[in-house]
Amino acid sequence: MTVRTRSPDETEALGARIAAELGAGDVVLVSGDLGAGKTTLVRGACRELGVEGPVTSPTFTIGRRYEGPRPVSHLDLYRLEGLGPEEPGLLEDYLTADAVSFVEWPASLEGDFAAEAFGAGVRLARRVHLRHAGGDDREISVEEG
Ligand code: ADP
Ligand code: MG
Repeated sequence: MTVRTRSPDETEALGARIAAELGAGDVVLVSGDLGAGKTTLVRGACRELGVEGPVTSPTFTIGRRYEGPRPVSHLDLYRLEGLGPEEPGLLEDYLTADAVSFVEWPASLEGDFAAEAFGAGVRLARRVHLRHAGGDDREISVEEG
């Protein structure tokens, strides 16, 4: 499915629609250029999942864990792009079977890393890709994992 959004609110609403279909152990990869709206989409998803505090890109760590009715993990693997599985278990505190997880800059999860990162009870549920489409427009594709 590919949709076009015309505002941050519309992108948040799409994030909420995606989140409504997710369950414990699901991982959503969220790719796209800087400013494409990855964090905006994740914020909408987090609201749907009952997260009330600020939702911003993790900056000084690779991830955050939000309190909600169930835990929500939010990772930003920008710094891992181009790296191999240097640190086994780096992600296992975040990609847990009890949480719903969102991963910005997920390229490092596409290679050998993936096998290590996805432990028991954790599955790739969706791939979301956002593109700038002029002004405030964004073209957003959502695929099953
Ligand atoms: P990323 O995490 O991909 O770097 P952010 O979500 O942090 O992107 O930032 C997206 C920026 O673009 C925000 O300032 C947001 O207000 C703006 N924006 C404008 N139009 C849209 C849209 N349709 N969807 C998402 N963000 C939008
Ligand atoms: Mg971001």
